[in-house]
Amino acid sequence: MKRWATALVGALLTILVALAIWRQPGAHHVQGARYLHASASVMATRIEVLVPRSAAHWAPAEVFRIFREVDARMSEWKPTSPLSAVNAAAGRRPVAVPADLRALLRRAVAFGNASHGAFDVTWAALWGLWRFTGPKASLRVPPAPEIAARRALVDYRALRIDDTRGTAYLPREGMKLGLGAIAKGHALALAAAALRARGLRSFLLSAGGQTYAAGLREGRPWRVGVRDPRGAPDAIIAQLPLEDASAATSGDYERYFERDGVRYHHILDPRTGSPARGLRSVTVIDADPVRADAMSTAIFVLGVERGLALARRTPGLEALLVDDKGVVHRTAGLAVLSLRARARR
Ligand code: ADP
Ligand code: MG
Repeated sequence: MKRWATALVGALLTILVALAIWRQPGAHHVQGARYLHASASVMATRIEVLVPRSAAHWAPAEVFRIFREVDARMSEWKPTSPLSAVNAAAGRRPVAVPADLRALLRRAVAFGNASHGAFDVTWAALWGLWRFTGPKASLRVPPAPEIAARRALVDYRALRIDDTRGTAYLPREGMKLGLGAIAKGHALALAAAALRARGLRSFLLSAGGQTYAAGLREGRPWRVGVRDPRGAPDAIIAQLPLEDASAATSGDYERYFERDGVRYHHILDPRTGSPARGLRSVTVIDADPVRADAMSTAIFVLGVERGLALARRTPGLEALLVDDKGVVHRTAGLAVLSLRARARR
């Protein structure tokens, strides 16, 4: 009896250890045989592609091309983009804008409505006032009157999109569109659609804090790690399964500076004109990469309670939030492979 038990425990342990080794994300040699990994830098972001080797000769190039194109057409920083033309003509005249950009702007307005203004595509009037990268001396907390003056120019409801004339118009001088919170999701959606249209069913794309996973990887869902906002770059607090869906993370650790113990980061609350408070990171899982991208930003701005409420009333969307104490919150339907209840403080 005793020997039986010892043998059984021994066998079980062996299986567990074998499983643990097998499930290691580091088992890349297996993946490497079937998938090709490629990466490039576009939009100041690292784009990573994992595609079946059979598609190696075209798929990565196609993905990078799509990201470059989206960047050229939708970047508010490139003076030649249609978006910049709308910004330059603010308060003066409507500007012709391609149909796909108008459609994306309409979606941005809808995300504004859904989040009661937390997501605001006209947030960019605050740009330049806040700087989160660059020489240390240029990183400052702007005086309150300056913030108030710019904040008055932030209001997505004022944006006029005219599909008959094919134009977009910002009615006040100084207003500015900025698609930074959804351009990546948009490019991921286009890239995924392009690979699918050519027959690919299983691939992984990632751009900065956002991933899109198509199909399964050797019979199992792909996995993404959620970073610990105060941990080392490779420290993760959760592993999530992903199949035909996108995971987008907005965090306060990507672009920020600190003054007097306060962290000032790049996700701004349109109500205050200053960095949103209350959360360190938000990860959204959604079949639609554009919505995942927009909603991670929106939920981040809204904070724990209102953010969770928005996630819960959005069918098909799941979210994982890390608050400013490191406590993890999540929606009931979120599937996890592993999860720590608390991040590093
Ligand atoms: P990341 O770009 O780091 O992946 P996000 O998707 O959350 O993170 O996008 C943050 C970016 O969104 C900012 O850098 C800025 O371009 C833009 N942004 C900041 N605040 C808002 C806001 N309240 N609404 C919409 N866009 C915003
Ligand atoms: Mg976003």
